[in-house]
Amino acid sequence: MGIMGRKVFISFDFEGLAGITSWNDVSKESSDYKRQTMLVQLYAFLEGLRDCDVLLVDSHASGDNIPWEITNEFENVQLISGGIRKYYMMYGIDDSFDFVVFFGYHAGVGSLEANMDHTYSSSSIHNIWINGMPMNEALINAAFAGLYNVPIACMVGDDKVVQQTKLYIPNAFYLSTKQSIARHSAVMKPMPIVLKELRDLSTKLSKSSKEVFDVFGFEKHVEMIVEFSDTIRADLVSSMPLVERMDGRKVRIVHDDYKVIFEALLAMTYICAGAKVLL
Ligand SMILES: [Zn+2]
Repeated sequence: MGIMGRKVFISFDFEGLAGITSWNDVSKESSDYKRQTMLVQLYAFLEGLRDCDVLLVDSHASGDNIPWEITNEFENVQLISGGIRKYYMMYGIDDSFDFVVFFGYHAGVGSLEANMDHTYSSSSIHNIWINGMPMNEALINAAFAGLYNVPIACMVGDDKVVQQTKLYIPNAFYLSTKQSIARHSAVMKPMPIVLKELRDLSTKLSKSSKEVFDVFGFEKHVEMIVEFSDTIRADLVSSMPLVERMDGRKVRIVHDDYKVIFEALLAMTYICAGAKVLL
């Protein structure tokens, strides 16, 4: 790892990349799995970060999408691979990082005309609000980075997640990979243009200083409301400490420490994933 460059935390997701529109495209089990489509975009982005120390956190599905062989090409990259792990999409963040990058991100659950809109769990979570704001994964994760005072410097994703996130984090660099026109449909840019934009973006990022970017966080007391897709999920999650039932499908948790809220959301997601055997 270099000693001169910036220290960059990349939280990796898949649905927001160019060339991707369906769950088959992003499911390792599918014969349509588009690993090469993803990798060509990731390589283009990492090209501009050769002077940086990069922590690359594979946070799509089981976290096993990016092959370790990528570190043969990029010795400055440390890869976090596999699951289940604490802090999932944000594992390894601490106050030593200069910036956070959200790569391949998608819009929050219920967003109009957004490829594979969901928030943490597409099967379990029907709605989620923090302090009254509808959430996407970028905002949830940005506030976790905020606990360590690390600013959000860059987002690569579809046009809808970019629109949503820009409202609250205006000074980051944004790159729309595609224009989503429905849950499984998008207008794609030509590949050479996307790859050039990715290289240019990361090169610009590697020369930027952290002071120009926003650290994001929520006002205290932080209130999170989660509406599940059915009542059994809400039944199960209601046994968690601090969680209070609001109605058939909704629960609520309030805390001053956002770390507690963030971990509660992950625990809810894991409980719901494990609970599929009961449904
Ligand atoms: Zn994903």
